[in-house]
Formats: sequence, structure tokens, C-alpha cells
Amino acid sequence: MRTKMVAGNWKMNKNLQEGVALATELKEAVKNPSCAVVIGTPFIHLASVAELLKGSPIKVAAENCADKEKGAYTGEVSAEMVRSTGAEYCILGHSERRAYYHEDAAILKEKVLLALANGLKVIFCIGEVKEEREAGKQNEVVKEQLEGSVFNLTAEQWANITLAYEPVWAIGTGLTATPQQAQEMHAYIRSLVAKQYGEQVADDTTILYGGSCNEKNAAELFANPDVDGGLIGGASLVAEKFMAIINAR
Ligand code: PEP
Repeated sequence: MRTKMVAGNWKMNKNLQEGVALATELKEAVKNPSCAVVIGTPFIHLASVAELLKGSPIKVAAENCADKEKGAYTGEVSAEMVRSTGAEYCILGHSERRAYYHEDAAILKEKVLLALANGLKVIFCIGEVKEEREAGKQNEVVKEQLEGSVFNLTAEQWANITLAYEPVWAIGTGLTATPQQAQEMHAYIRSLVAKQYGEQVADDTTILYGGSCNEKNAAELFANPDVDGGLIGGASLVAEKFMAIINAR
């Protein structure tokens, strides 16, 4: 049975005090969730939030890590450093990292390997932009993203991968994929995983949907057999909204 999950991605929001306050609210509210709960925070929050959430079912994720192990890379944060904060996950391949920080398939492949080598679980994001969807190329795009950065992994490494299908045209836009679009794509992604790693591994792979998923549309999206939960941006910044999404899973 694969893990159902709701993960938050705070992006570059909340200063340290605000982040600690939100994590404190969530800790109070999330006692016995019916799915795995992860919150992705900026680097500077990780140690405080991980410490605060010790003993809570909520796990902590970084939103990125370096593509180098260590050394003279001013301003970068390594996977080992992330793990040393108590964070257990790392979000990689987010479309904002791909678009604004030019993270290509090769860079992401390195990041994934380093995250896994340092004991982090990876939430790996894939998804097409609007023009690709309009041209009917969405399947091709996600296939290339998987082949370029994660299908090199062994089945053992794959056990620490969660996928997040995030159509870029739906992220932060208020435009959500329809439940049918989400299901079609998730089933296709699962079929690609099956071809690469076999039916059992595919069946055990958690595939999240992300893109303007909120407390109003979450239940309908999560009702699809291949949608195992959500990666939530904007709505993860408000405890009640995030809680409502967790409860919809
Ligand atoms: C995200 O950042 O991964 C995301 C899905 O954002 P939003 O929920 O705000 O669309």
C-alpha cells in the first residue's frame, strides 16, 4: 500500500518567527492525521521547525539543496547540511527552480543523488507549461523529466522518491487541473514507473498533485485512484486551510 501524503511548500514566505508560529499551530492541530504530513520550509527555518516538531507526525522538508557535496560554493546549502537540521525530505525539481534558477535535468539528477546519499527522501516535481499542454505534449514532457533526472535510480533508491505532478500553468494561478486531467496524468506517470521498475514498485509509488490545490477542491482531486495526495503552495501558509486539505485526504 502506498503512502498518502499532503505536503506544504512555503516557498519564500514567512520570516523565522512567522514560520515557527505556523509550525506551532500545525503541531497543535495535527495529532493523528490519516495521511503523511510534510512541510517544506525555507532553509533558515529548518532547524527550529524540525526541533519544534520532534514527536509530532509532521515531517520537515527543505525546498532545495545544492548540486555539490561541499566546499567553495558560497551561499549554497548541501544535502548533508539539510539532513543535519533534522529535516527528512527535500523538494527537488520544482518548476520555480527550473524556470528562475535554470535547474536542468542534469543538475537535478545530481541533487537527487546527493539528497538520497545523505539520507533525505525526495519529493520530485514534474509538469508541463501551458504551451506544452496546449500542444498536447504533456506526456512527452513528464517522461523526459523522469528519464532525465530520476529513472537512473535503483529500485532501492526509488523507494525514497515521492513524485509530484505539478502542471506549471496551475501553480499559483488559481487554475487547477480538472480531476480528470490529474487522474489521466497520474495514471500515465504510474505506467512509466511500472515500465521502469515494475508493477509492484509503481503501485507503491506516491504521486502527489500540485497546482492551486486548496481546501475547496482537494477532496475531488484526491478522490482519483492515482492521486495520492497533494503538494500545496499558497494554501499551506494558513493553518486552517492546510488542515482542511489534510482532512480531505
Ligand atoms: C507549489 O508551489 O508547489 C504549488 C503547487 O503552489 P500553489 O498550491 O500555490 O499553486
